[in-house]
Amino acid sequence: MKTIKGLIIEDIVRCSCGAITVFLENGNNYSMSKETAAELIGEFETTLNDYGNCNYCVNHWGIDLCGCGSGEKVGKCTEDFEECKNHISVQILGEIKDLTPKFKIMKFEKSINNLVEQAQKIRQEINNKIINLPDNKKIKRLNKNCFTMNVSDLENGNNLSPIHYDFKYQYTKLLEHLNSINIDKLIIRLREILKKGYFITGNSKYLITLHFEVIKYLKTILI
Ligand SMILES: [Zn+2]
Ligand SMILES: [Zn+2]
Repeated sequence: MKTIKGLIIEDIVRCSCGAITVFLENGNNYSMSKETAAELIGEFETTLNDYGNCNYCVNHWGIDLCGCGSGEKVGKCTEDFEECKNHISVQILGEIKDLTPKFKIMKFEKSINNLVEQAQKIRQEINNKIINLPDNKKIKRLNKNCFTMNVSDLENGNNLSPIHYDFKYQYTKLLEHLNSINIDKLIIRLREILKKGYFITGNSKYLITLHFEVIKYLKTILI
């Protein structure tokens, strides 16, 4: 009868990855590589499992695997957690540890950071497209804040607000508004605005009516 730490081994199973899992009389089970098992138990018979996904290969649980959950052998792990530095394994014989391998969480964190970075790039690209749309060809800019135009070019509704004819201003304000919208809703919001022809922006709820040509230019980037 085989024992580990004085506890009787009830079953020994082998996964298709080669790892061994031993089930002890007290209900605990421990996973390990076949080399570790050979050192610990010597020769043994196994029940060949056909599930092929043991805790060792999938969840990186084992008495000889690093406690950070990286799946590296304990002592050989190059990650930077306490477990790696102190050579603490995920499972310790005779102990039951309730561990959620940190490594997986760290991988999620990396994935999320990558997505955020990608989202920022997409937002920047959209911003560049909008800000580089054409200016109002009917205005003559005198300087950054000032332009002239012919009275005959005022819109039918006689919108006399200068900002209505300052396309660059309209793009800038639109961008300010869009940059406050979550990336997943960005295009939906832009479509809405183009349909309605106006948007409300800023803390003082300022309404900006888009010039029909601004709408026309903006539509070109949605195609
Ligand atoms: Zn396995
Ligand atoms: Zn580690």
